[in-house]
Formats: sequence, structure tokens, C-alpha cells
Amino acid sequence: MSNFARYARQVILPEVGVNGQQLLRDSSALVVGLGGLGSIAAAYLAGAGLGRLVLADRDRVEASNLQRQLLYRQADIGRAKTEAARAQLAALNPEVEIELRDAGTWPQAVPAVDLVLDCTDNFPARFAINRACVAARKPLVSGAAIRMEGQLAVFDLRRGGPCYACLYPDHGEAAETCEEAGILGPVVGSVGAMQALAALQLLLGIGEAGRLQVWDARQMRWRSHKMTRDPNCPVCGAQQDGH
Ligand SMILES: [Zn+2]
Repeated sequence: MSNFARYARQVILPEVGVNGQQLLRDSSALVVGLGGLGSIAAAYLAGAGLGRLVLADRDRVEASNLQRQLLYRQADIGRAKTEAARAQLAALNPEVEIELRDAGTWPQAVPAVDLVLDCTDNFPARFAINRACVAARKPLVSGAAIRMEGQLAVFDLRRGGPCYACLYPDHGEAAETCEEAGILGPVVGSVGAMQALAALQLLLGIGEAGRLQVWDARQMRWRSHKMTRDPNCPVCGAQQDGH
């Protein structure tokens, strides 16, 4: 393993160790969406020494992003988020291989990664990511934040859990956006950090899937809800029955 000192503070943990660090080194993740969730999650995953990060986003950095998307700098305004993120993450940890995808090509990356982080802010993207993860049987770390609220869930069919569509049937409605409803930086950043944590847990084989964590940032309180699979789910129903 190269550059042991870089990872010393996590290698010393019994949950990681030298073997766990090598596991992370041999792992890959796809981060879809490089906004308030994805820019923070990607930074932690790069810092932790994942071998390969695949990044997907279609937006450019805007001035209104900088309040919470701490991966970007003033000078990045106007730049593609994928390009700006790659530059910052490579500067943070040059050991991480970084691959860029766009809104059209990220689904092709799903079968070749160990897990996917949904860091998007709209239902069509969330449902598309879920379908791709179910089809490839890849664990999905889903995060969301708006106003003073956050949510985190790990969907892992390999452990018999539900998929995103079991919880949120596709009624075709539009999600509220942070552009309309507002968001505080640390609220969305906390959920992004939790997504990175959940991803590390999955890769290290610790922690548990199958629960929905709902965060009330005003009260600083996380609540945990059990998630149940919908046997009639149009996305994962047939998959699970045939398993
Ligand atoms: Zn389902």
C-alpha cells in the first residue's frame, strides 16, 4: 500500500485496519450528482483512499453553489462540475483514479463499480439510478436534503432489502427543489458526509442496510425507520422473486 501515513488515522481503527484500507484501495464508487451532497461525499471518499471514483453531473458551477458545495472555488464558476471536481479531488488525493461521465453515459458505469451514491435532486434521476442499481444488483446509497431536513437510506438487494421504488412509487410528480425551498449548507453537507460514511461501511462490510434515517436539522435529531420491501414493486419485484 502506498503512502500509509495518509490513511493512518483510519487504519488504526479496528473497523478498517490494513486489510480494510486495501479493500478501499480495491473499491470503486459512482457518484451521480456533484452538488451539495455529491461534492462533500466525493471529497470524503477520495480522502479515504477509494481506488476509483466515477463522477457524473451535467451542471456548471454557479455562484449560488458556493454556499454549500465546498469542493468548488470562486474561480470554478462557469466550469463543468465534473471537471472542477476532478481537479480538486486529484489535488486532495492523487492516488485516486477519477473517471468522468455525463448525464447520458453514467448508467454504463454502474455494472463496473462496487456501489452507487445518489446525490441528485430530482425524481427522474433518482428513479433512473434505482433502476440501474437493481438491474446490476449494486448497493445504492441515497441521500436527500431540503430546507432543514435530510434523509439517508441504503438500498441493498443482495441483503434482501427494498429498492428506492419500494419506498417511493413513481407517481410522476416533481420534487421540490432547494432553488425554490432553500437549504443551509451544513444540512446538506451532513447528509453528504453520512452518504460517504454509509459507502465506507458497505465497502468494509460493517453497518447495516435496510433503514431509512430522517434528520430534523432544526432539532438536531435523527430518527430511524425500518424499510420494507414491496413485493409488487415494479422495479425490484420480479428480480427478488426470481432470486
Ligand atoms: Zn423495489
